[in-house]
Amino acid sequence: KKLTVSLDHCQYPIYIGKGILAKLPEVLQEAGMTFRRKLFIISDSHVAPLYSKQVQTVLEKAGYEVGMAIVPAGESSKNLQQLEHLIGECLRFGLDRQSVIIALGGGVIGDLAGFVAATYMRGIPFIQIPTTLLAHDSSVGGKVGVNHALGKNVIGAFHQPMLVLYDVETLNTLPKRELISGFAEVVKHALIWDPSFIKWLEQNSEELMALHAEKISEAIYRGCQVKVAVVSQDEKEVGLRAILNYGHTIGHALEAVAGYGVYTHGEAVAIGMAGAVRLSTKVLGTDKQVVVKTEKLLHAFELPTQYNPSHVTDELLLQAMKRDKKVRNDEYSFVLTSDLGSVELVRGIHEEQIRTILQEIRGGK
Ligand code: NAD
Ligand code: ZN
Repeated sequence: KKLTVSLDHCQYPIYIGKGILAKLPEVLQEAGMTFRRKLFIISDSHVAPLYSKQVQTVLEKAGYEVGMAIVPAGESSKNLQQLEHLIGECLRFGLDRQSVIIALGGGVIGDLAGFVAATYMRGIPFIQIPTTLLAHDSSVGGKVGVNHALGKNVIGAFHQPMLVLYDVETLNTLPKRELISGFAEVVKHALIWDPSFIKWLEQNSEELMALHAEKISEAIYRGCQVKVAVVSQDEKEVGLRAILNYGHTIGHALEAVAGYGVYTHGEAVAIGMAGAVRLSTKVLGTDKQVVVKTEKLLHAFELPTQYNPSHVTDELLLQAMKRDKKVRNDEYSFVLTSDLGSVELVRGIHEEQIRTILQEIRGGK
């Protein structure tokens, strides 16, 4: 399957399928790459032992000169020290402005390697080879960056990849909890945009959880389709793109307050979506059935819809939401559901309303 991202200043393809890693040289040629260009793989300590050899071999066989750097797996590698280290590795390997960086891994590697590409010699091209389900979200759209001790993703850039190659076979080695985390963003893409995608997810949840190759390709395709539709209308997040933060206001607060790692990103966002849809009934008068259906869909992917109050207090959550860049003055902004498959950004939400919702979504494990 192939999807094309069309932006004002560039255009790039997303390839999705089973066993397509082997096709990498072909798609590089299609993108106009010549063998004289150097390629540099950036991966992490979990993914590299599983897939880097395969990628390297297929590229070397096709005639490319290939280098590689591996960083420790996990969010803690997304920092300025790693950036500097990786730029050193790029220099040592002799990458020039015609060279291409290959991000082989999940969202952490995509963001980090993408930011290396965005900053190395004022920007060189890069390719995304996502290996997590969550990365169907992060590999598309061009947001790249690293964390600062005082905030997540606060150092970054917009830098679009030259192509995305998604081999769904790599998902077979992904730990179950990471897979489930990724489904939260798939479900999010359906909930914000596409009622027919919601229905399809309901009908296919079992096969998707079992990683049926064709179904999972379809889910990624449709999820990317939503992301592409939103990003192509608002690349730099001046308006519409904010809806991609559905579930993330409470979700980010939960991740930060509970401590990173207690909840996966997807678990936190799932709880955040449950909060947002409940808040929608209060603020927009959304039908209660929409809450029931949303939570049922999340549960079908074994995602939580409540948080465990022994991890966090409402007070800390509210404080964290206030620190979030999406909260202005004392007014909270939330992406809320008007109906299944459509959302809108609502400003000026009062703290009292949020407190009520936090009461409703506490109690989970
Ligand atoms: P991740 O990259 O840390 O991957 C999760 C874990 O799975 C890691 O331990 C990794 O080593 C391992 N792993 C990855 N692929 C594997 C495979 N095929 N087999 C076995 N293990 C594998 O995390 P993630 O959930 O993919 O991404 C989270 C990151 O994405 C966060 O840093 C977040 O900020 C970022 N993100 C960015 C955007 C964006 O638009 N740029 C959007 C959403 C999330
Ligand atoms: Zn997210």
